[in-house]
Amino acid sequence: SKGQWEVDPAELILGEEVGSGQFGLVLQGRWRERRVAVKMVREGAMSEEEFKEEARVMTMLSHCKLVQLYGVCTQHSPMCLVFELMEQGCLSDYLRARRGRMSQDTLLGMCLDVSEGMAYLESNNFIHRDLAARNCLVSCNNVVKVSDFGMTRFVLDDQYTSSQGSKFPIKWSSPEVIKYCKFSSKSDVWSFGVFMWEVYTEGRLPYENRSNGEVVEALNAGLRLLKPRQAPEAVHLLMEWCWKEKPEDRPSFALLLHELASLSDL
Ligand code: ADP
Repeated sequence: SKGQWEVDPAELILGEEVGSGQFGLVLQGRWRERRVAVKMVREGAMSEEEFKEEARVMTMLSHCKLVQLYGVCTQHSPMCLVFELMEQGCLSDYLRARRGRMSQDTLLGMCLDVSEGMAYLESNNFIHRDLAARNCLVSCNNVVKVSDFGMTRFVLDDQYTSSQGSKFPIKWSSPEVIKYCKFSSKSDVWSFGVFMWEVYTEGRLPYENRSNGEVVEALNAGLRLLKPRQAPEAVHLLMEWCWKEKPEDRPSFALLLHELASLSDL
């Protein structure tokens, strides 16, 4: 049966390419007077049946700091996913393009935006599984929003989904994810610590010159990413809190949001 989340292809106008990712090309377009981004899913890139089941849940998640999934067009094969358009693209590119030109308020504001989106996911018991600056997008008003939440569950590439795989995001992953694939909102919190590090280094790659194996070894030895030069001490303390070995020792997103908000009023 057709759900509310089924997009009628007759209402969808496709435009220029704005990027490409794990699932294929992303085009800009228009749907019911709105500017949208359309992910054209490549044949064999996604477990489509499982995704269709989950699309209902995902279209119901709605928050000003999440990139909205408007719906899915399943009438053509492969299918396409219709999202809110984020005019300024992905945050990691945005940070690198503006190095040395962003204020402390701007950097803190980015962390605050993402903590708000993540606190909403946490309160809905929804695990992101791949939080990183590359999976956050920037709107025309410079608002940063969380994108691609939960999507790795539908990727069909083993190199990406297995913690042993070459494309697995080890450098953003908590110890319990690396060892047992135990994902939770607390493993998202670990990734958020790495995300804050990316923001305050203005888009550097974490553990730049280390292989995945070396990173795992360093983490086991208790080593962590160093304080970015631009990060205030209070923000660095939050990062370290996110990187506690035991998930239960890490803060919730609700608490992180509260702490970041109190830093931004100072
Ligand atoms: P995938 O989920 O297939 O890996 P991504 O989400 O990484 O794809 O998207 C690939 C690129 O497409 C992004 O880096 C970004 O430049 C662009 N893009 C994705 N979603 C949007 C969007 N909602 N608005 C604008 N550009 C987007």
